[in-house]
Formats: sequence, structure tokens, C-alpha cells
Amino acid sequence: MKIIRPDAETSARMARIRQKGTKIEAAVALMLRDLGLHYRRNVRKLPGSPDFANQSKRWAVFVHGCFWHHHAGCYRATVPKSNRRFWLNKFHDNKRRDARSVRLLQREGYRVVVIWECQAHRIRDKLTKILETGRVNP
Ligand SMILES: [Zn+2]
Repeated sequence: MKIIRPDAETSARMARIRQKGTKIEAAVALMLRDLGLHYRRNVRKLPGSPDFANQSKRWAVFVHGCFWHHHAGCYRATVPKSNRRFWLNKFHDNKRRDARSVRLLQREGYRVVVIWECQAHRIRDKLTKILETGRVNP
């Protein structure tokens, strides 16, 4: 396989994306605990290594970055300008792998939840606006 080194701009963006992903996962962990749900993190023995899963209760949660998992129609699902074909192939493979993981888990009786990065950001932005303006629907 051809090795592609991302340009400085792309690698800086990817580093930011990774950091944000970690924060969202921490927020989801808090919500799951708040709901009294017990989970394991990054369960490698399950298809797709879900970010959170409970094998006895049979549920799995994926927290997907919109860039890496190429969220359909999402403004965050951009394609880097250089090595465009490489990235398009990569995103295609990622999406196919994601769909397969969900299928395999469902076949084993799992309920699967996908939380997209942009959904988490929308909630945060909404809360920020409410706090800034004092109005519930600014
Ligand atoms: Zn998205």
C-alpha cells in the first residue's frame, strides 16, 4: 500500500480532531454513568471495537468523528485537497467497515448506537448560546 504523508495543515487538523474526539467520548462516558449504565471502553473483541459496550446487556455505542467516518452530508466530512483519491478510498473503506461492524453486532443481538461528533457539538453550541443569551431558543 502506498504511504501518504499528510501535509502540515492536514496533520494539524487531524491532531485537533483526535483531541476533540477524546473530549466527546469523555462526555458520553459521563452520560452513560449518569444513566446508570455499566460499560467497558474500546471493546476490541467485538466487531469494530465499540467505544462503549456492555456484553451481558448487549449494547454498543460508537462515537464517530465526522471526518474519519465521513458522516454523510455533514459539513465536517471534508476531503483534504491533496491526495484526494487516497482520502476518498480511505473514507469509503472506513464507512464499509463501520456498516459491517453494526451488521455483525446486530446479528449477535446487540442494540447499536452511533453518536456523531457534530451531534455532540450541536448540543454544546446550543447550551453555550442559552448560557450567553439567557434565552432557551436563541
Ligand atoms: Zn457529522
